[in-house]
Amino acid sequence: MSSLNNIRSILVIKDKNDHALYISQFAEYMKSGFLVVNESAFLQFDIVENTTFRNVFSIENKSFKRTDDTSEFSLYSELPTHISISAYNVKYTKGFIQHREYRNDVTFDFNGEDTTLPLPVGYVYDEALECLDSENNEFCFNNETKFSYSCGYYDSEKMVVIEHCLYDIDCTVTLENGRIVYEDDAVWCEEIEEYHLESVCTRLENGEWLPDNQVIRTSNGCYYSANDSDITTCNGCDENFHYEDLTYNEHDDCSYCENCYEEHGNKLKNRLCYSTNVINYHGFGDYQNKINGKLVYIGFELECLADESEVEELDENLKDMQHGRCNFEYCVPTMDGSLDDNYGVEFIFKPDSLENHSENLKHFIDNIGSQLYKTAGDGYGLHVHISNNFLSDFDKIKIQNFASIHDAKLRFVGGRDATNYQPKKMLGKTADMKKGNANKYQAVNISPTSTIEFRFPVSLVDHGHIMRNLQLAYSICLYVKYRCNYANINDFSLYLKWLKTDKQFKLLYDYFDNL
Ligand SMILES: [Zn+2]
Repeated sequence: MSSLNNIRSILVIKDKNDHALYISQFAEYMKSGFLVVNESAFLQFDIVENTTFRNVFSIENKSFKRTDDTSEFSLYSELPTHISISAYNVKYTKGFIQHREYRNDVTFDFNGEDTTLPLPVGYVYDEALECLDSENNEFCFNNETKFSYSCGYYDSEKMVVIEHCLYDIDCTVTLENGRIVYEDDAVWCEEIEEYHLESVCTRLENGEWLPDNQVIRTSNGCYYSANDSDITTCNGCDENFHYEDLTYNEHDDCSYCENCYEEHGNKLKNRLCYSTNVINYHGFGDYQNKINGKLVYIGFELECLADESEVEELDENLKDMQHGRCNFEYCVPTMDGSLDDNYGVEFIFKPDSLENHSENLKHFIDNIGSQLYKTAGDGYGLHVHISNNFLSDFDKIKIQNFASIHDAKLRFVGGRDATNYQPKKMLGKTADMKKGNANKYQAVNISPTSTIEFRFPVSLVDHGHIMRNLQLAYSICLYVKYRCNYANINDFSLYLKWLKTDKQFKLLYDYFDNL
């Protein structure tokens, strides 16, 4: 009798066809305190719905209240209550006690006979069940007695009941909280070396599992351990990302996700390809600038660095430049590999006269001057092009030599010293001079097919600086072609003297004059 004291839960199964399964597993005593009963054992008493009978089950002075119910099982757990009923497979049951106090609370109809006993009356009498004490009816069964449909205990060392199902204990695992679960419902969390229910875990990118509350979801829908040091936040949207999914932006020392990089990393979207030809966008300028009947043009490229706080406004202006809107019909913005990836922009001005360039530059500086750094260092140049249709090859070489000989003075106007991109090339002897030098990265590059390019000026977003250098390039071409020979090429004062005679170069002459 005492062995039954340990029962703490009663499992009622509905399908008696499963008896064999259970019975074969049942041991007489169950250490974990589980008793399994077939529901049809109740039904034989013709139990009326809506009585508390179905909700309470009692055995050996302990009452069990229904705490869980599924289509397959009901689970009763120990709770004090006064209703007592019973139904047992006596093959596995040693005894039964019913509280005398409550014995009349429920009346059952069994085979047409009323009984307050939970067992068939005939059975009780036939089997000489005895009342052992005055307080309780105690029924004792001998081992040969066969009665009822199901009742028994299972061997808790071999089987375990989980969520109303009986599992082989070898197919179970113990969670970190001590709970035993079916192995297919649990996952091993390698990082914390614990089993957890799969239903509260998440599978990570590396295939491992972790409880949901230790998992971090990145903004692009990937899962990582919350302790994963590879996870960082985007400096733009503050969302979590794997660091490999972020792009580092040198300019502001921040890392951005794809979306934010669009916004933060590269705001100058309206730059054109570096090989863009401005003539295809805006054609040529003034047709009045003629030398010996030939139209002569001056063009230039100004390499600039955008002020990052103004990029959005600047980008709008770049769009206008491409479409020639808002009077920006004189230049196009392009990217150049030698400039800052994000904020560098090269403005290519269409071929035009000095006069028109001056007007256009005023408009340029008035409208976007404040959106650019005035100076961005020696890496940012001003490249001036003069059309070479009025120059012979001999003229071009002479120009290059003139520029080399007077390099220091020209660079003074240009605003910088020699760098790798525009080394001066001094040619000593007249014979050498006449061969020239075709290196593209010279201070004066004579190799382009239709222009002669002056590369030495530094970029400065400044009207006076740019105009002076346009005048310098153009005046050198004119002076060297028409006024200079190898006998007087070394005399810079002759050039200055000549410069003074042409008022279109006044700005430049005044500059030299004030030195
Ligand atoms: Zn972001």
